[in-house]
Order: sequence, then structure tokens, then C-alpha cells
Amino acid sequence: IVRVLGVTKSFRMGKVEVRALKGVDLEIFAGEYISIMGPSGSGKSTLFNMIGGLDKPSDGKVFIDEVDISQLDAYELAWLRNRKIGYIFQTFNLIPVMTALENVTLPMTFAGMNSEVAADKGIELLKLVGLGERFQHKPLELSGGQQQRVAVARSLANDPAIILADEPTGNLDLKTGEEIIDLLKTLSHDRGVTVISATHDYKMLNVSDRVVWIRDGRVDKVEHRAELDITVGGIGMESQEARPV
Ligand code: ATP
Ligand code: MG
Repeated sequence: IVRVLGVTKSFRMGKVEVRALKGVDLEIFAGEYISIMGPSGSGKSTLFNMIGGLDKPSDGKVFIDEVDISQLDAYELAWLRNRKIGYIFQTFNLIPVMTALENVTLPMTFAGMNSEVAADKGIELLKLVGLGERFQHKPLELSGGQQQRVAVARSLANDPAIILADEPTGNLDLKTGEEIIDLLKTLSHDRGVTVISATHDYKMLNVSDRVVWIRDGRVDKVEHRAELDITVGGIGMESQEARPV
């Protein structure tokens, strides 16, 4: 469903050039749950932005459903970002002046859905993430975990094939983080959504089909679930922060 071919990305800051990605090849299949792990600064978010069409590679290509997204015009790219991909960020990125429900329905009305139909679906999605009673609250009236649930509901607004989550548990306590992971796992199992999640959270390994380890702008290794030596997770265990290998 996603194919990354020879993607590089450099950022020029004055005289300094930062090479964030140095040639990444990666194929992700429909319905997979992929965790992208690696030290801070290794290029996870950058890769993410390339896959999500939020930024353009310096070189190389990203295909989504066999379409080279660099060839899309602004309108087609907006369509892809609105319909095909749901985004979840570490800092939630909800719109503060809007209620939970308005945040969730915004991508639907943007896609042209009738506002009453959107409201019904928004309530349904908020119920799905366990926030059925909180739809009129604004983000600041909700806890971090609740805000992230709203963000998960919003990411599902237009039934995306792919959910891109950049450190979705990064700002949450252990238990709340686990709840979000469970939610993502359930979504991938029940709805067949492809989940691609950059994370430092070793608990994420328990639910991943494959783990892509990124190191210094390159794919270091890709492990299938069966190959993983999962020693973290389970009830009452502390998760560990990823540290440079
Ligand atoms: P973290 O785990 O801390 O989120 P990451 O793996 O997501 O790290 P990236 O954010 O992808 O890392 O950053 C990779 C490298 O690219 C870093 O050296 C970073 O400073 C640089 N970088 C990322 N975005 C930009 C930008 N917009 N301008 C300049 N440099 C950038
Ligand atoms: Mg990052």
C-alpha cells in the first residue's frame, strides 16, 4: 500500500546541510501494523512526513497504492491527505477553539459530507474511542489521553486506508499510552487499517507485525513479529525508552 524508493531528504540551514534521510527503501502492505523505531534524530518524523505527503523528498519516490505522490497536483494531494490517510501526532494537534466533535467532523465537512451526517458519524467515532459523553468539550477541557482519543477519532473521519501516527503515546503516561496502543491495535485488527507508527514506546512492539529500525537516516533492520525478542510489556511491566543502540 506504501512503497518508499531511495528516499533522501536534506535540510539546509544556512551553511549547514543536515542529511535526515540517506536513501530509504521500504514496502508496507495493506493491513500491516508497522512500528518505526530508532534514536532521537534518526529521521523517523522526516520519513513520516514523506510518506504522508506533508513534505517532499530531496530524491527518491513515495508510492501510495502504486501512485507516485510527487506527481500529484495540489488538489489531488489534498484529496489523498484528507481521504486516504489519517494523521495522529505526539502533540495531538487539535484545534483549540473547536469542540471534540467539531474537531472530528472537520475532515468530513472538508470532504463535502453533509454536516448532520458528519455529526452522527463524529459521535459514533467518539463513542468508539470511549468519549461518547465528551463530544462538546474543547481540547483544553480534556486530559492528554482524552485529547489523543479525539485525535484518533479524527484520524478515522474519512475511513482512511492508512493511519500515520508520530509518537502517539509520547506525551501520555504509561497506562494512557497503553490504552491508545490498544485502540490502534483494535482498529488495525477490526477495520483492516494499515497503521504506521513512529515510536519510542517498546510496548508498541507487542502489537506490531513488523518493526523498522531507523538509524542515522537509514533503515538499519526490519524485523517480523515472530523474530522479535519481546521482553517488555504485559501487565504491570514498565515500558522503556528507546535509547541509541
Ligand atoms: P525524535 O525521536 O526526536 O522525534 P526523529 O527520528 O523523528 O527524532 P527527525 O525529526 O526526523 O528525527 O529529524 C532527523 C534529522 O533531521 C535531525 O537531525 C533534525 O534536526 C533534522 N531536521 C528535521 N526536520 C528539520 C527541518 N525542518 N529543518 C532542519 N532540520 C530538520
Ligand atoms: Mg520525531
